[in-house]
Amino acid sequence: MSSLLLRADSLFDGANLLPSPRVLITGELITAVRAHDDPAYGPGTTVMDLPGTTLLPGLIDSHVHATLRGGMSPPNGPEALSDVAAGNLRVAAQAGITTVRDCGSPGDSMIRLRDTAMRGLPHCVVAGPALTPPGGHAHSFGREVSGVGELRESVHDLAKANVDWIKVIGCGGGTPGTDPLVSTYTADELRAVVQTAREHGLPVTVHALNSETISLGLDAGVRHFEHGWPDQARSSIAHGALLERLATTGVVICPTIWAVAHRVPLLRRRLRDSPSDSQARADLDEALRRTDAVIRSVGDCHTAGVRLIAGTDAGWRDVGFADLVDELLLLQRCGLPAIDALASATRVAADALGVGARAGRIAPGYTADLIAVAGDPTVDLEVLRRVRLTIIGGRPLDQL
Ligand SMILES: [Zn+2]
Repeated sequence: MSSLLLRADSLFDGANLLPSPRVLITGELITAVRAHDDPAYGPGTTVMDLPGTTLLPGLIDSHVHATLRGGMSPPNGPEALSDVAAGNLRVAAQAGITTVRDCGSPGDSMIRLRDTAMRGLPHCVVAGPALTPPGGHAHSFGREVSGVGELRESVHDLAKANVDWIKVIGCGGGTPGTDPLVSTYTADELRAVVQTAREHGLPVTVHALNSETISLGLDAGVRHFEHGWPDQARSSIAHGALLERLATTGVVICPTIWAVAHRVPLLRRRLRDSPSDSQARADLDEALRRTDAVIRSVGDCHTAGVRLIAGTDAGWRDVGFADLVDELLLLQRCGLPAIDALASATRVAADALGVGARAGRIAPGYTADLIAVAGDPTVDLEVLRRVRLTIIGGRPLDQL
């Protein structure tokens, strides 16, 4: 079995910092972690000295759509879907992302990709197609379902297809003809999904963009929300009480702030190229306004003690698969210290996604998914843009 010894300046293990770390990898697993001194290692071990770098667990993007390539329509046919997803995930891996949760892709495309476990691609945690009402948000890559009976049947089907998560579209969204402020399913319908999923041991996450949808979800027993921006300005639901309920019930929110904020640099670039473009000016003002509103909402969640995990919504519109660092910088703007932002993309995310026993930490017995970055990301998250080395399942990317 191949083994690898890494020596670096510093290590973030998912929770704490360790100086002068030595990490021994044997086969696919981390087998020893020491400060200052090498652990015992065999004669065939490859030693990699990485001066000036910090080691950290491979990053986790908890919200992607791997089969999308911008826009809202995935390509047709299993081969095209798998090609697009593999290309996107390769970009993610180069950016240090070693696990993704796919939050909605057509049919069984991502289940097959997950089970193929292609070398050099991140591990996939898969929700399969999202459940949405006929014509509802994300219907072009979801499964259109209405009523308690159909919802139950769909959850049974998806469980049989071996998904890891059930994703439900709880309100409208960016899909034309849908309204982000209007809930799509009743509490009874959501409860049917949660109960049926529980029979199969599956967690449920709900796409929610307003307080009412979050509140309905909580009534139905939902404990995970995507986006999940409680909105005090437009809602009849008491903001403080909702935040407290989210915190005390241990809810996890994956806020995907970048899904809104990524428009800002794009529009700034467009304006730089054509300063008289009044539409771009108006769009930029709107993107800035929405970004500020989402940051306020997510900041309120953080202050209230709601657990947050990092996800980008990569694949949706112009969100890229290497953009996770942008989401972490936004989480920092919501009040998370850099080290907590890092945890939201490693240990906290792994625990929330149900893979916390093998991913999200650098510790003996864990899968050897880790990265080395130049500099110290606990001081400056920007250094995550300088990934020097990605190791997935014990294999350095450049040695595949
Ligand atoms: Zn999404």
